[in-house]
Order: sequence, then C-alpha cells, then structure tokens
Amino acid sequence: MPQTHNEHAPLNLSLNSVKQSLTNHLIFSIGKDPITATDRDWFFTLANVVRDRLIEGWMETMRRYYENDAKRVYYLSMEFLIGRSLMNSVLNIGFIDEVKQACIDAGVELDRVTELEFDAALGNGGLGRLAACFLDSMATIGLPGYGMGIRYEYGMFNQKIENGWQVEHPDNWLRYGNPWEFPRPEVLYPVKFGGRVVEYRNEHGRMHHHWMEDDEVMAMAYDTPTPGFGAKTVNNMRLWSAKASRDFDLKYFNEGNYIKAVEDKNESENLSKVLYPDDTTAMGRELRLKQQYFFVSASLQDIIYRFLKHHSDFGELPDKVAIQLNDTHPSIAIPELMRLLVDNHDLEWDRAWDITSRTFAYTNHTLMPEALETWPVSLFEAILPRHLQIIYEINQRFLQGVMHRFPGDTELLRRMSIIDESRGRRVRMAHLAIVGSHHVNGVAQIHSDLMKTTIFADFERYYPGKLTNITNGITPRLWLNQANPGLAQLATRHIGKGWITDLGKLRQLSALADDSGFQAEFRAVKRANKEKLAAILAHKLRLDVNPDSLFDVHVKRIHEYKRQLLNVLHVITLYNRIRSNPALEVVPRTVIFGGKAAPGYAMAKLTIKLINDVADIVNHDPATRGLLKVAFLPNYDVSTASEIIPAADLSQQISTAGTEASGTGNMKLALNGALTIGTLDGANIEMKEEVGAENIFIFGLTAEEVARTKNDGYDPWSHYHANSELKWALDMIASGYFSPDQADRFLPIFNNLTRDGDHYLLLADYNTYIAAQERVDSLYRHPEQWTRCAILNVAGMGKFSSDRTIGEYASKIWGARPVL
Ligand SMILES: *Cc1c(COP(=O)(O)O)cnc(C)c1O
Repeated sequence: MPQTHNEHAPLNLSLNSVKQSLTNHLIFSIGKDPITATDRDWFFTLANVVRDRLIEGWMETMRRYYENDAKRVYYLSMEFLIGRSLMNSVLNIGFIDEVKQACIDAGVELDRVTELEFDAALGNGGLGRLAACFLDSMATIGLPGYGMGIRYEYGMFNQKIENGWQVEHPDNWLRYGNPWEFPRPEVLYPVKFGGRVVEYRNEHGRMHHHWMEDDEVMAMAYDTPTPGFGAKTVNNMRLWSAKASRDFDLKYFNEGNYIKAVEDKNESENLSKVLYPDDTTAMGRELRLKQQYFFVSASLQDIIYRFLKHHSDFGELPDKVAIQLNDTHPSIAIPELMRLLVDNHDLEWDRAWDITSRTFAYTNHTLMPEALETWPVSLFEAILPRHLQIIYEINQRFLQGVMHRFPGDTELLRRMSIIDESRGRRVRMAHLAIVGSHHVNGVAQIHSDLMKTTIFADFERYYPGKLTNITNGITPRLWLNQANPGLAQLATRHIGKGWITDLGKLRQLSALADDSGFQAEFRAVKRANKEKLAAILAHKLRLDVNPDSLFDVHVKRIHEYKRQLLNVLHVITLYNRIRSNPALEVVPRTVIFGGKAAPGYAMAKLTIKLINDVADIVNHDPATRGLLKVAFLPNYDVSTASEIIPAADLSQQISTAGTEASGTGNMKLALNGALTIGTLDGANIEMKEEVGAENIFIFGLTAEEVARTKNDGYDPWSHYHANSELKWALDMIASGYFSPDQADRFLPIFNNLTRDGDHYLLLADYNTYIAAQERVDSLYRHPEQWTRCAILNVAGMGKFSSDRTIGEYASKIWGARPVL
C-alpha cells in the first residue's frame, strides 16, 4: 500500500488538518500537555479527531433521510457486539495514511494506542456480532437503518483462566468513558411496569383499558454514529440507559426518606446494568423480561414520535417503518405497538392489528428447544398485565382463524397456541413473533428448511410464504480489510479495491489460484499472520509454537452442540498415535481454542478445564517433539478474533448437523484463507457450494441421518466398543490421565458421551472426523495444493458479505431502499 497522502482528500482529512486536530484535542478536549500525555490520553485524543470527521456525514445523512421522507428500518436487538471503533472508523472514513503519519510526527505509537480501546462487547456471540455487521452494511449501502438496543453498563464478562478454569470478571468498559457515544439527556421516555388494568366504557360505549402501572423507569438515549465504507452515510445506533424517574425519587423524598429514595434510584437503574451472558439458552429471569420490555418500549415511543412528526395517519406506518426483531428477545414489541395504537391512539383492534403485523418481521436464530423463549404467564401478569391481556386477545383471534381453517383439530390448536398449557402456562414468544410478523426468516438455507419442516411446520402450513430464508453474512470491512491488511492489500494489488464493497469481485482471484508467484505472496501473508499470532501466544500463554505448523483453529462459544470435545478427542488421538509410534510421520499442528462458557453451564466450563489440562500434558510431553501443541487463548472477543482468524490454516466448524443455524465464524475464517473442516450444517453447506466440494473437508452425519440415528435408538457404547482409539481416548479422560491431581474430574464428560446418551452424537461422527483430519494432513504436505485450495476459499466467499444479506432483507422483507 503506497504510503503517500491523498492529495485530493477533503481539507479536514489532509495531513495538516489531522495534525492540527491532534494537538488541539490533546490540549482542549483532554486537557494534557504532549509532555505528560499517556497512551490512553492519545487514544481519547485520536478518538476525538476521528469523531469530528464523522459528525458532518452523520448530520447530512439524517437530513437526507428526513428530506426524502425515507422508509426507515429499525433493527431491534438485545445485543450489538461491536468491538473497537477507532480503526474501523479511520478505515471507513478513508484517511489511514494521514492518521499514521500524524501519529509518527507526534511521536505516538498508533498500534499501542489502539490496543487501549475497550471492546464494546454488548453481545454474547454470533447473534450480537450479526447485528454489528448489519449496521456496517446498512450504512455502506446507504440504507436508512437504525440499531436500537441497550447500553449495558457491563458487557460480556472478561474471561480469565486460573489454574485451567474459566473465571468471570466484570467488563467495566465505560470506566474511562466512551468517546463514541453522544448522551441525549433530552431524549427520555418513561417505561412502566406492574400494577393492574382498569376497564371502562367511554361516552360512546366503547370499551377502554387503562393500565394503572405502579412502577416507572426512564429510558435515556445514547447515540453512536455508525459510518459505512467511504463514510458518505453515517447511520445511528441508539442505545437506551435506565435512569430513575423523578416522581419515583420524590415519593420517598417527600416522606422524608432520603436514603430510601436514593436506594430505589439504584434499583431502577439496574435494568441496563449488565448483559446476560447466556448464549442460545433462554434465561427465565424477571430482570431479563424487564430489560426486554424496557428497550422495546423506549424504542417504540421513539419510532412513533419520529413518525408522527411528519405523518398523522397510522395507516402509513408500514410504508414508512420496518421493524426487524433480532430473535424473539424484542417480540414484546408486537403487543406493545398494539397497546399504543388501541389504548393510547384509539384505533380499532382490526386496523391496529393490520398495521402492526405489516410492520414487524422476525429472525429466528435457533431450533434448539432450550433456546426458545417462554415466560410464565404469572410473571407476565405481575410485570406487564395489559400486555398479557393483549396477547390473550391476539391468541384468541389467531386460534379462531386456525379453527376455521382446520375444524376439529384440537391437537393443532394446542400446538400452535401462543400459550403453552402443558408446562404450567407459559407465553411462547416465538409463536407471538410469528403471528405478529409479515415475514419470519431463518439464517441459512438448511436452517430455514428445518424451521419449516420441524418446529414451525404448523405455521408454514397456515401461513404459506411467511417463512423464508436469508443467509447470514459478515462485513468485509472488518473481517478482511481491517483484520488482515496483508491479504487485503494483496487482493487489491491484483484485482483492485472494488471487493471491499462488492465481495463477489473476489472470484477474480480464482484465476490466480495456480499462479506460483501469487501463491508465494499468499503464503507469505499467511506466514506473517501466523508469526504475529505465535508472538501473542508466547506473550499471553508463555507457549512457544512453530509458525510452520498447521494452525488448527476452533474459536466460538463453548457449547456441547459446537462439539469442542470432538476436537479434543482428535487431539488425544493424535497424541496417542505420536506416543505409540515415535517414527510416525505427522504434520506438526498447533491446535488453538478460544471461547467463553456461560457462567452457569457446568459442562462447558469443564470442557475448558479439560482443554487446558490436555494442553498441559501434551505441551510438556517430550514424546510430542514439538509435533503437537494445544493452546487455549483466553477472552475470545471481537479483538482477539481479529488476531486469530487471519492466522488460521484450518477452521473447525464441526457442530452436530442440524444444530448450528448458520454460523458466521465459518465465513470469517474462510475469507481469511483457512480451509474448513466441517459438517453439513448451517452455512457450511452453502460455503461448500460456493468453494466447491473438493476445497472443503466435509465429514459426518447429515441432519437427516442425525434425526434417523436418534429415532432408531442411538447407542454411543456401540461406537466406544467398536473403535479402540476412541475407547482409549475416552478412557484416558475418564481415568484421570489428564487430571492426575483429581482422577475423577472429567468423569462427567465421559458419562455425558456414553452412559447419558451422547446427545450431540460425537461418537457417531468420530471415525469420519478422524478420517477427514487425515485428509487435512495429506493436503497440508503439499503446500501448492493447500495454497490453491485456500485461495479458492477466499475467492468463493463473495456470497457471504453482509452487504448481500442486507440487500435481501431490504428487498424481500423491509421494502426499503438506499437513500443516496
Ligand atoms: C463471529 C463471532 C462469533 C460467532 O462465531 P460462530 O463460529 O459462528 O459461533 C462469536 N464471537 C465472536 C467474538 C465473533 O466475532
């Protein structure tokens, strides 16, 4: 990349302007002299310099949407897993060279300074990161999209590894302040809870409902400008923070109970205190339901306020507003909009329902029963009594429709009802979301197909065409341009930089897959990235790894369905083969794990301990002769992902077929030139179609075979007894080989995979997995063939840009257009 400065840059992006801003902000915003400025002072100084250059575009964008009376898309999500913003904004604005030079001139080490930014980790994993990629894509294509969520004071916990175990530490990410957000103390909405509903007839004899709530919290807006590539469009992410309501304070204050008033203030502000760290598991906690309603209520009040500024007829709402529900977490928005239209704005039920169900759409993220949200009716009754009434009314009318179409099928009514009567009466949020939305989408083809044929089959029959697929994607700005500058520049040198906003252009790289010069350059980039990761492993884990070894990467949340244990079984098998046959020719491997376990998920936490105990034994056994190393890199987040992924040779995507809705880690790794070893699950299937079956290592049971195997009465013991290497590995885990200080430590894992039924069929897939790993080794022995394959993987990732994904949402679901 030429280090010359863009002579045609707008004035405020010129080197002189950047240098001037840097000095001014250090002095006037941070209040420091260059002599005493710390790296952190420079981070905040730089952030201010960058922020200044976002604001004009931000205001211009909002003006443009307003003048066009554009249809707005509101993306409601409990989670936004953003990561760091400094370099992302610099690259999107397009003045990286000027920033670098200004830092050099000021004696500031940019690389050290960027490390001081805390990740905005307001999400668990894939679902939250998808929301962040979507914000980037909406701004890049110029779509009027608004992210709406919660400004958690504490985001995803920091994971430390102590004695091999995960220990959670609070993520106090706002400690030094957040330079990207604009507090809006005047954008403040009341959110009410509890109480009871009073019914009365008005003077025209019409029934009305008055919610006499007994609790109130204020939601205050914090806005974060979100630039697209080129920063022509800068959209807004609005996050809500809970503030005590004034009335609430005064009640006790007037009684002379000052301390009680302040205590209660704390209590109501707890609503936005912390992100629930449970990924793909529904937590039936009262505070969680309150968080959901809190941000939904504030968002809808805000959406309606903006709508009513220029419109008076609610009939136009579905033409001017599209609301996307990221999973069922915000689905209380459906009865809330009904409540606002019927109770507050006096609309007839049928008209309100028509408007509501043409405004919402819902994205389903999982088929696993433990992830499907249901809330006890009693909890709803206590916290949102009016909403419960509205849900009953929605349900009654819906079931009447079902009854009319399928008379006499009471079993069908029981299955489709929004109220589950079988487990002590619970509200099924997914059914509510489907009934109240015009479209419901899955996130990869197989997932959407399974959605239609399994959990939502009744709805597919009742609402043909409502259920659809939109395959996930990732933003190439972060996951290639920013995370892997070496590969990005290599691609740009050969095919131009169009790929950054049109990822399909990467196809042109396939013509270079056999070009030995290009191959050498490609290998050099990967090699440099691996050296960088090796240095990080040496620094963080005091572990020496060979950058020429195969970097085998398994990074994602720790979950039984993602089968980190299957990977461990392969590691142990390799270890046993090396020990029992010292002459064995093996491909040197470094197996790298990363991922967080939900704090209450014992099996996931024990898996982390097993990985670390296996690493301890394997890494210190002279028998492995540096042929096998195992590393668990702590605190997997967006920043560590950006360090690990560009260095990966092999990407582990080995979930039990039918369980991973899409995956996006799979896309990030392949885009960075890793080959995938994976099952026919989630987006792996579409990746295989794009890169060609010969360029991906597919193994294991298909989703159909998984279902059949379970149906036929799966017996893990039969695999245990039929395969001596598998038995050996499992017996070592069970007998304390890796835990000499506590022999029975991992017995729960052994039991889980044998006696307790091996729910995720690891043993059934063990043989084909080991065989696939042998194919990996064989190919890695031929660097030209491996590199060719890796290039074809990069070249085939065009489909998986979130720009394509967002384009499909816009045309198929939202009916929204870019406003440029
Ligand atoms: C992409 C991403 C995920 C999702 O990874 P999967 O492999 O799709 O589960 C989780 N966490 C972080 C930090 C990510 O960047």
